[in-house]
Amino acid sequence: MTKPFKTLDDMRDVAGKRVLVREDLNVPLADGAVSDDTRLRATIPTVTELADRGAIVLILAHFGRPKGQRHPDMSLALLTRPYSLLLGRPVRFIDDCAGEDAQAAVATLQPGDIAILENTRFHRGEEKNDPELVRAMAALGDLYVNDAFSAAHRAHASTEGLAHVLPSFAGRSMEAELDALEKALGSPEHPVAAVVGGAKVSTKLDVLKHLVERVDHLIIGGGMANTFLAARGVNVGKSLCEHDLASTADAIMAAADRAGCTVHLPYDVVVAREFKANPPTRTVNVHEVSGDEMILDVGPAAVEALGDVLKNCRTLVWNGPLGAFEISPFDIATVALARTAAALTGDGSLVSVAGGGDTVAALNQAGVAASFTFVSTAGGAFLEWMEGKELPGVVALRG
Ligand code: ADP
Ligand code: MG
Repeated sequence: MTKPFKTLDDMRDVAGKRVLVREDLNVPLADGAVSDDTRLRATIPTVTELADRGAIVLILAHFGRPKGQRHPDMSLALLTRPYSLLLGRPVRFIDDCAGEDAQAAVATLQPGDIAILENTRFHRGEEKNDPELVRAMAALGDLYVNDAFSAAHRAHASTEGLAHVLPSFAGRSMEAELDALEKALGSPEHPVAAVVGGAKVSTKLDVLKHLVERVDHLIIGGGMANTFLAARGVNVGKSLCEHDLASTADAIMAAADRAGCTVHLPYDVVVAREFKANPPTRTVNVHEVSGDEMILDVGPAAVEALGDVLKNCRTLVWNGPLGAFEISPFDIATVALARTAAALTGDGSLVSVAGGGDTVAALNQAGVAASFTFVSTAGGAFLEWMEGKELPGVVALRG
């Protein structure tokens, strides 16, 4: 199948070319060490492939929020050594991503060399997508590769502008992410189920509105289920609940009805009086929550029924945990449904795609992240994609 964007397979005569590669190197540091190298590892396929094909690999990335100024503690020089160790190859550092000094430094590189260029956000023009900065960056390279899906929801010089002035290609991680998302919501196999959980309806309104038009089953869990239950007249006690969104919740349920999407709300729940680890709990029907209790997880009967829904689906897209999973024992429903989804994926009956910061943490806690078809660590970009938004960095790659 031909893709709507060019990939590294479409790149000819790479040897000796200077390739500007936008990566996501925005990793957490603790005491100067990289505390989670997931993002660094995601860059390896593209960077090694290009270097092996004889390109001069020039990595562009942002780091932190320096707001257009040089901050030594947000210099990508801090990552050069850990990155080099991870790659198992030498990595040079060039202390600007535009300008004459950077050009001179790039001119000393040989085919197969890899260099990290300084934090793009040290330039004010980066976040403004300033054409002058775009031209200055473009002067360093012959080709442009965008491999940072997680930054693609922003139209910045290094994520969007460059695609308009240099021949552009999606890197391997970007390609894998776009392929997975296309399979999950673009042209999925039906029936499609979506799990939307997490704390609040207000942060995911656009996600819900988009999904009811596209999926066959919308499974609502987490704190946001309380808002829907309350809108249906259920007394949710002291649960996290946005009572002011009752009419919005009604409108979403009505839209789902019209679109032929079945909305699943929990009918049994796990409640507690305190929001702390291992408090006394009760498992009750949603109509039996007392005024001083909080709903903190979906109950076992509902989870079993949801597992049966997944058994009849071909595609699953998941954002947001079903309960307050950080606190024991309110991770039980999330872990159980995640394991069911992972088993169905293993059997080949389900394509499962998940994303979101807490969702990824919950899937890791369940030990099933690797058993899903695809887990996106893109955060904001993943959510915007679930809202049906066009991501500027992706649109620009289509040319
Ligand atoms: P993601 O980061 O995957 O997009 P969210 O940030 O939207 O997910 O939601 C995760 C948060 O929702 C977690 O902190 C979790 O504790 C909270 N949460 C889930 N269910 C409940 C609930 N019933 N009551 C209170 N908080 C909840
Ligand atoms: Mg979150």
